[in-house]
Amino acid sequence: MAITPELQHTVGKTAGFSGTSLHTGEKVSLKLHPAPVDHGIKFKRKDLQDEPTIDAKIDNLKTVERATTLGEGAVRVHTVEHVLSALSAMDVDNAIIEMDANEPPIGDGSAQPYVDLIKKAGVTAQEQPRKFFDVREPMHVESKTGALLVLLPDDTFRISCTQAGPNNRFAQFLSTEITPAIFEREIASARTFVYYEDLQPLMEKNLIKGGSLENAIVVRGEAVLSKEPLRFADEFVRHKILDIIGDLALVGRRIRGHVVAVKPGHAVNAELARALAREQARRSAMSTPRPVPIGDGGLDTDEVMKILPHRYPFLMVDRVIGFEGENKIVAVKSITINEPFFQGHFPGHPVMPGVMQVEAMAQVASLLLFKLAKTTSRIGYFMSADSVKFRKPVLPGDTMFIHAELTKSRGERLAKAKCHCVVNDAVVSEGELMFTFLDK
Ligand SMILES: [Zn+2]
Repeated sequence: MAITPELQHTVGKTAGFSGTSLHTGEKVSLKLHPAPVDHGIKFKRKDLQDEPTIDAKIDNLKTVERATTLGEGAVRVHTVEHVLSALSAMDVDNAIIEMDANEPPIGDGSAQPYVDLIKKAGVTAQEQPRKFFDVREPMHVESKTGALLVLLPDDTFRISCTQAGPNNRFAQFLSTEITPAIFEREIASARTFVYYEDLQPLMEKNLIKGGSLENAIVVRGEAVLSKEPLRFADEFVRHKILDIIGDLALVGRRIRGHVVAVKPGHAVNAELARALAREQARRSAMSTPRPVPIGDGGLDTDEVMKILPHRYPFLMVDRVIGFEGENKIVAVKSITINEPFFQGHFPGHPVMPGVMQVEAMAQVASLLLFKLAKTTSRIGYFMSADSVKFRKPVLPGDTMFIHAELTKSRGERLAKAKCHCVVNDAVVSEGELMFTFLDK
């Protein structure tokens, strides 16, 4: 089953298994069903009236003590992180997780049963592009308990994790890219582990009726207790990575970035997922196609092309929004993935070349100069560019506002303009351009 990384995927057919739930100790059966594009992952409580569903989204996160609980209204699903981790890492974007209890089967405390289930169901591509969250700038969250998660830009989804127990016992480190093959081989079978100190109060309150050495590793002092021996010498850090993937799946998008995690846990993982969801909401609000007014005395594309000799794919101005006084101009250019320069710059990680931004500044500055000269019988030549700085990457989907201000005009033949480009209220590039005019 080949995965096309750009497309959404669902399971090929319904598949299920049953087991014990961790908290109540009762039998639960779980079925994975295919779901249409843009559906995302939803839990369905088959045991309740009207069979309510809960979106696996960060907005529905209720508690993060020991495990991750989602809820909508009065309906809850507990301990969702292992099944979500497997779905996310095995490239399933859309599915219904149907259960007849409030918790998935705990299995052996790892994500292995869910990987087996997904493979039984198969994974199939759907005809819609997948949604990504591209990390553009470093982000981080920190907790009072010393947990730290840093997210850095990267072309792939990677996790570098350091885990440490009480008094730094069982300190372990692992860094890996997360792909379906790597997850299946290196991460999925790592089991839940608990410290005996944390376990005792739960046992007394009878909160883990389904818990046993068959579905968790118990650490008591230096001793590691489990039914079968450790599956990896560093099984604990692998399980921490498994949980990070499951908790970040609540963002609802594929993450392209590098997670650097120090002593992670569900609480701090969830906090990072919230920060990503907030940033995504901000970006969506900024990039929603808005009709940009042409403004008083602005120019539409036709008028721009009457002045500028440039044509597709080299015309870097969609419209002039307006002029301010005699020597200022603001224009706009929508950057789409169809721009020819994205093909080679860079494959798999499209970034608008800086020189194209300078070209856009030059074209906008010439529009201003032509307006001042009130003639199109002369041609402006771009002579020099000084103090050019590229501050942030410009990506497909961005709307770039190009500002130019005439700072010097020596006679009729030479002119200097100060220019900058803005995306999402931040300056992405700037420079000072010089032009000379010659008769056509
Ligand atoms: Zn876990």
